[in-house]
Amino acid sequence: MKDISYVPEFVPQGSSAAPAPALTLGAGAQLYEIYAYAEVTNISVVIGACTTVGAGGFLQGGGHGVLTPAYGLGADHVLEIELVTADGSVRTINAVQDPDLFWAVRGGGAGSWGIITSMTIQAYPVTSIGAFSFVIEPNPSQNLTTLGIDFIALLGKYQNTLVNSGIVSLLIPFEAQYILKFYWPTTTSQISSLDPFFSELLTLSYNYSIASNTTSTFPSVSAAQIESIGPFFDSLNFYGASNQLSSRLVPQASLTTSTSVQEVAEAIWAGTQILNAPLQSGAPGTFGVAPPFLLGNMPAATRQKANETGANPGLYEAAWHVLFGTAWTVGANETTRNAIVEAVHTATNPLTALGIRSSYQNEGDAFEINWQQCDFFSLNIIYHS
Ligand SMILES: Cc1cc2nc3c(=O)[nH]c(=O)nc-3n(C[C@H](O)[C@H](O)[C@H](O)COP(=O)(O)OP(=O)(O)OC[C@H]3O[C@@H](n4cnc5c(N)ncnc54)[C@H](O)[C@@H]3O)c2cc1C
Repeated sequence: MKDISYVPEFVPQGSSAAPAPALTLGAGAQLYEIYAYAEVTNISVVIGACTTVGAGGFLQGGGHGVLTPAYGLGADHVLEIELVTADGSVRTINAVQDPDLFWAVRGGGAGSWGIITSMTIQAYPVTSIGAFSFVIEPNPSQNLTTLGIDFIALLGKYQNTLVNSGIVSLLIPFEAQYILKFYWPTTTSQISSLDPFFSELLTLSYNYSIASNTTSTFPSVSAAQIESIGPFFDSLNFYGASNQLSSRLVPQASLTTSTSVQEVAEAIWAGTQILNAPLQSGAPGTFGVAPPFLLGNMPAATRQKANETGANPGLYEAAWHVLFGTAWTVGANETTRNAIVEAVHTATNPLTALGIRSSYQNEGDAFEINWQQCDFFSLNIIYHS
């Protein structure tokens, strides 16, 4: 179930499509294994940022990663799936064999359609990855709430342009320090798309200072993952602890005017305050206050193809995937645990109040209330289910 093999000229069963390079993955293959294989095979594949994730769940939920703005979701690049359905039959499904099932499995909900034994995904030529990494400090003599909201709004103003240019942004705004990263495939994206953002940031030097910045170029996606992105996310994740997340997909349409951008920024900040209310006291078993994650790695490249997979259309429309979450250990008592779960759950309320309801099911809230109303899934999935 962890086998990985390169097929230079893959043609889906029963298809007359032109042969294309592909990787066939055992459903248990984890992303770090796929990146390592891609590196030695000299190819790129569209998979995720956190390397412990398994291909099985990742691709059935949609799947975002560093190539997603420029190439699309992981699910957009699946060519064929072998799975065992509830009637006990082993099926090889693709765009011409069982196309409805093939549509549904790609993004329509992990574990819902059968047991996947292998998946074949498209392989691309190697592209180098450019990267900027910043630590930005708001001026401590000013109002940190205002500066935090304004900084989110500043990035929000340019976020549609960035995602449409194939550039990933990642903002993690701790109250007194903002981690800001950009990644882009150098073959498809121009860093000049970042110029207006930096020009405006430099005019605000009284408010924000750049505490550190690094510029890197990685020869491949795998190298960027192995040397930079994977270790960064690994350093933030609380492996082995209990974890609760909630998510909202901020559509590009919500970032088109200065008023709407400001409203979104205020809602993200307000959600963060809700999240942190039970964490301020540093109760045993908790990890202190938690910033939101603003992942600007949504599939702008395949936006016009949203109907071609079962993935939530909200993913394709999104400019930002906003995540609220934290973790706790067995040292947290029941009162603390319940308070955290409720805080994570309600942290999305300010964004929901703006009509931003959609959520990435793979990183969503298990206690989401109106999940049927296109929060997690394509409406067609709800209908067929
Ligand atoms: C630390 C961390 C980082 C993450 N980073 C990213 C990221 O960068 N990008 C992203 O898009 N998502 C990310 N996610 C979310 C991730 O995509 C989901 O958690 C996903 O469900 C993980 O799949 P899995 O197979 O590893 O997990 P599991 O818990 O093993 O499976 C998840 C679900 O998929 C089903 N499933 C798994 N394999 C199969 C199979 N072969 N056949 C049928 N059903 C199957 C399981 O039954 C279960 O319902 C991250 C999650 C974590 C915890």
